[in-house]
Amino acid sequence: MALSFDLPENPSFLGDDVIQGVWANPGFGQYFTDHMALANWSEESGWHNDRLTEYSQVSMEPASAVYHYAQEIFEGLKAYRHADGSVWLFRPDANARRFENSAHRLALPVLPPEDFVTSVRQLTALDSRWVPGEEEQSLYLRPFMMAAENFLGVRPAHSVLYTVIASPVGAYFAGGVAPVDIWISRDFSRVATGGTGSAKCGGNYAASLLPQELAYDKGCSQVLFVDAAEKRWIEELGGMNFFMITKDDELVTPELNGNILPGVTRDSILTVAPDLGLKPVERPISVDEVTGGITSGEIRELFACGTAAVITPIGSLKDEDGEYRIDTDKATHTIPLRNHLLDIQYGRVADKHGWMQQVC
Ligand SMILES: *Cc1c(COP(=O)(O)O)cnc(C)c1O
Repeated sequence: MALSFDLPENPSFLGDDVIQGVWANPGFGQYFTDHMALANWSEESGWHNDRLTEYSQVSMEPASAVYHYAQEIFEGLKAYRHADGSVWLFRPDANARRFENSAHRLALPVLPPEDFVTSVRQLTALDSRWVPGEEEQSLYLRPFMMAAENFLGVRPAHSVLYTVIASPVGAYFAGGVAPVDIWISRDFSRVATGGTGSAKCGGNYAASLLPQELAYDKGCSQVLFVDAAEKRWIEELGGMNFFMITKDDELVTPELNGNILPGVTRDSILTVAPDLGLKPVERPISVDEVTGGITSGEIRELFACGTAAVITPIGSLKDEDGEYRIDTDKATHTIPLRNHLLDIQYGRVADKHGWMQQVC
């Protein structure tokens, strides 16, 4: 039976003044709305107790398996306020299917995609007051699922908690879109073949934090991870996919090889590319091809993409051998691509791919 995540009978709400205060400077993932969606799963009962409640602490015993073995997955998507005040989600079904795949890899129970979408829609509708309306602001939704059984034996947990929380977020680039410098990590890998690279799980992020810190020390804001075996093939950043644009207007990204997270933004960019005069290509990309291509002029633009920042132009790649700098002033495609996706998300151009879902 489908889960309904029914609205609570007498929901309580924070005052509008609190929301206005948050909107003044939302940042990213710092403030949370009044409510959250929850559902439990157990081996005996399946999914049950689906509900919306006040945002509050979730109490779990120290023996809860997630604290020990990191059996956890998550998602990230946004709700956007259009000029007429209506609130919309971007491709929630794509996140729902990815959540299903992540659950499979982490040996968690599958939450049916329609229940995932219901939970996100219901929470967004209940807390729609929090969806900001300024340029590039949105309500970031974070569904996640974790092992909740009190048991230290190593096997998939027999009870699980599913939760959705929501956070108003501001424009990612407060002072206008600015290119970032990227460190190519060869000492550390994010994932290896056969690992959890194509699942969105907390463990992958934990593995990326130390290399990320070392990149900061090198004056870079992100890490570009290469394949663990040969240290030769570009995979992606810690939480964003990688693209390059050639002088012949090819838009190239590493093909999904099991190590790369299949980003919804990545897929959307590949889909809209022909509308912007670009030819989408998915194939292996070596570090040498990119560094050589920057030097020769073959490669004109580099960018990273993900739900949080949509598209982030890359200004340079650095490694132990040197720095490879892109002339971002000559970039002609990155910003139009970014604006085109934003225009779809904010309802300023026709949604010809049927990606937007109205909530209220
Ligand atoms: C979430 C994520 C992305 C981006 O995915 P989107 O669906 O576009 O937000 C890319 N790489 C990793 C490792 C991620 O976790």
